[in-house]
Amino acid sequence: MTPTAETARIVLLGAGHAHLLAIPRIRRALPKATIQFVDPSEVATYSGMLPGVLAGHYALREATIDLAAYAARHGVTVIRARAVGVGAQEVRLAGNAGGDRIGFDLLSLDIGSHSGMPEIDGFDRHAVPVKPLDGFMRRMGALPTVGPRPLRVAVIGGGVAGVEIALALVHRQGAEVCMFESGPGIARAVCPATASRLTRALERAGVRVIANARVIRITPDGVCQDDGSQIAADVVIGAAGARAHGWLAADLPVDAQGFVVVDPDLQVQGRRGVFAAGDCAAMVHAPRPKAGVFAVRQAPVLAHNLIASVRGAPLQSFQPQKDYLKLVSLGARLAVAEWRGITVQGRWVWWLKDRIDTRFMAGLHR
Ligand SMILES: Cc1cc2nc3c(=O)[nH]c(=O)nc-3n(C[C@H](O)[C@H](O)[C@H](O)COP(=O)(O)OP(=O)(O)OC[C@H]3O[C@@H](n4cnc5c(N)ncnc54)[C@H](O)[C@@H]3O)c2cc1C
Repeated sequence: MTPTAETARIVLLGAGHAHLLAIPRIRRALPKATIQFVDPSEVATYSGMLPGVLAGHYALREATIDLAAYAARHGVTVIRARAVGVGAQEVRLAGNAGGDRIGFDLLSLDIGSHSGMPEIDGFDRHAVPVKPLDGFMRRMGALPTVGPRPLRVAVIGGGVAGVEIALALVHRQGAEVCMFESGPGIARAVCPATASRLTRALERAGVRVIANARVIRITPDGVCQDDGSQIAADVVIGAAGARAHGWLAADLPVDAQGFVVVDPDLQVQGRRGVFAAGDCAAMVHAPRPKAGVFAVRQAPVLAHNLIASVRGAPLQSFQPQKDYLKLVSLGARLAVAEWRGITVQGRWVWWLKDRIDTRFMAGLHR
């Protein structure tokens, strides 16, 4: 039976940015539809403010959204579970006390990515992946902030996220940080002028960067490389980019990295009524790096297309912007901005980032 505005069952997997922003629009347009949203976490953590939390500029609650409260505010049901499979008209769940399957007429996935590195021996047991973010913050929160000697931290991955985390930990607790980057230099996703600024910031903070690193093992004592060298660390953080959740490939079309392939209307290729957005989606029509900014921009199109699918109206296409403002915090209340190859740095840049981030969170708390 074709769903109507009264009978439609819409299931949203993951409290990613696109879903959080789309929910109020969908609810307003379809006040009688059943909207269920599924996430294993109690909170959605905003990655843009996470380095600021680590640096001590924000309390963790300022960077998180309580999902039960959010769902109640917008009249949707939250199911605290992890999706593990997608069938023709139902989702399989793990960890849901209410049952292991839920049916849908329309489905959307916005489940982000993860930072696990199972190919490195001992990673699963001894390292802390930065994503999922709530797990990362729980484990970082359990670390001592004062001790007889500085905390020794190894960061695997010299991308922007790794740089921000390293500088935040130096700023907050005077950590001794060693960063392992598999490429010849750090921060490949930004322009050379921005990368130079970040390199200088790491040097000033005393962060040791090992380029062309080949990490092969993590032990309770630190990091081992393929040349036999070992670097002692109290905590090893995995921040080497966004990886696709492994279960997706079993049920949905995926690209070479395992991300779900979507058409310009954000519908999964060959699966009418199933959508995907955010990091978990591969926009093969316009590939872009994995960044929250695209999930945010997809939200209105995703909301429109879910509503239009119920009403039998035409769907919209999502055309991502070519470039976006990159704001990178440097531990202290100082940040670098990059826009179309132009890079600037200063306290005012941190202030601008603070304004953008805190406004974004304030919008979600309304
Ligand atoms: C330290 C750091 C800083 C960053 N800073 C920036 C920045 O300044 N600007 C920027 O644009 N990008 C930034 N990023 C990248 C950004 O975090 C991601 O691109 C963005 O979060 C992706 O959003 P999303 O909507 O895909 O999902 P996410 O925000 O990652 O949320 C995914 C949600 O899905 C849930 N989930 C996962 N698996 C399942 C499942 N199986 N079933 C149900 N739910 C599930 C998770 O619990 C989570 O709530 C940063 C990343 C890091 C690590």
